[in-house]
Amino acid sequence: PATTTWLDAWTRQEGAERATRAFVAAFGREPDGVWSAPGRVNLIGEHTDYNGGLCLPTALPHRTYVAFARRDDDAVRLASAQRPGDLWTASLGEIGPGTVDGWGAYPAGVAWALADRDGDGDRDRTRDGTPSGFDAAVDSCVPFGAGLSSSAALECAVAVALDDAWGLGLAADRRPELTRACMRAENEVVGAPTGGLDQSASLLCTPGHALLLDFAPDTPDDAFARPRTFEPEALGLTLLVIDTRAEHSLADGQYAERRRTCEDAARRLGVRTLREITPEGLDDALEALADVARRRVRHVVTEVARVEEFVAAADLAGSDQARTSDERATVGARLGALMAASHASLRDDYEVSCAELDTAVEAATAAGAVGARMTGGGFGGSAIALVPRGTEQAVADAVAQAFVDRGHGAPAFLLAPPSGPADRDV
Ligand code: ADP
Ligand code: MG
Repeated sequence: PATTTWLDAWTRQEGAERATRAFVAAFGREPDGVWSAPGRVNLIGEHTDYNGGLCLPTALPHRTYVAFARRDDDAVRLASAQRPGDLWTASLGEIGPGTVDGWGAYPAGVAWALADRDGDGDRDRTRDGTPSGFDAAVDSCVPFGAGLSSSAALECAVAVALDDAWGLGLAADRRPELTRACMRAENEVVGAPTGGLDQSASLLCTPGHALLLDFAPDTPDDAFARPRTFEPEALGLTLLVIDTRAEHSLADGQYAERRRTCEDAARRLGVRTLREITPEGLDDALEALADVARRRVRHVVTEVARVEEFVAAADLAGSDQARTSDERATVGARLGALMAASHASLRDDYEVSCAELDTAVEAATAAGAVGARMTGGGFGGSAIALVPRGTEQAVADAVAQAFVDRGHGAPAFLLAPPSGPADRDV
């Protein structure tokens, strides 16, 4: 028989205490403070960010906590409870694309990007002159490599810590600039070609909301991210995350290949990004493309349309128009159908699902979820399911049993009420 493992989120206080303990153990002094940032799930809008499209993430209650203190010199020293005994060190001046590796490249890359905000390669001034080095200790309840963006949680927690330490003032009202710094860290220093969804979600999501992100080129910062009401409990639903614990590696070329196919198709179609292809223009566009590109483009264009429909339906749920239980059920069924269509498109047209993700989606749906889909890049990682409130345990048990029946390794489960962004804890 299957056992069902739940990954509970720490309270903010517990997270801050853990990171502080890790800091004291690693560096023998007290930190200046603790900053944290959430992992994320994307409700719908997958593989659309790098196509100039729409995404709709929410922040997890699961966060990465960074206890942090400035140094008087240029040294950067990093410890992580998830990497015991592995103290990562470098000097600020030597950090950059191609010069550092290991897990420390994520936080160090953020320091590099924030020290070069104008992108000219020279270090920009901070409130106090030059950027200082720092010690940081990390602890996290965001599962690693589960498609829930532990990498962005780490980057964004460090970004808000550095923003405070260096007096940059970006976290207050210029968060898209922090987003870009975290993206540069991951793209240029770590070398993972992710599209910006993860860092935007971790820095910009707010409780009780999903964040509608518009990656169309030239979107101004003030129109890039819009909070939209998303309260599953108002619909009698709960958002359940299923971490398949199957291997996923975005870096192994599949992600880059999908990106390249889309960029080539956009060139062929004479558009800057696939966002410019409308559902009405889709059939014409597909005729100009060969088989694989045709399916990839069909996914992207239909997925962007599904995001718009999902937002329209979810907003309705937050208004007086969806008062009766019948109306709530109709909205829930609509959201669920869009999630199911998204999964089928990712599985069949974009070909980024895998056996474990398909099992999770099928078993959750058979157990009563109104809808389920893979979330994140694919090839493993996590799925999400919208389930009737009170059935979380039963659905999770059914999914765990299906994994046993089909010979997959054991999954884990998280509850994911839409939560808050990167911020200071203490
Ligand atoms: P995901 O972002 O989906 O969890 P990634 O492969 O993008 O998966 O990022 C995971 C990597 O991020 C880890 O292998 C590690 O290098 C780094 N990382 C994330 N969180 C931590 C942490 N708490 N401590 C050390 N490294 C971390
Ligand atoms: Mg990641």
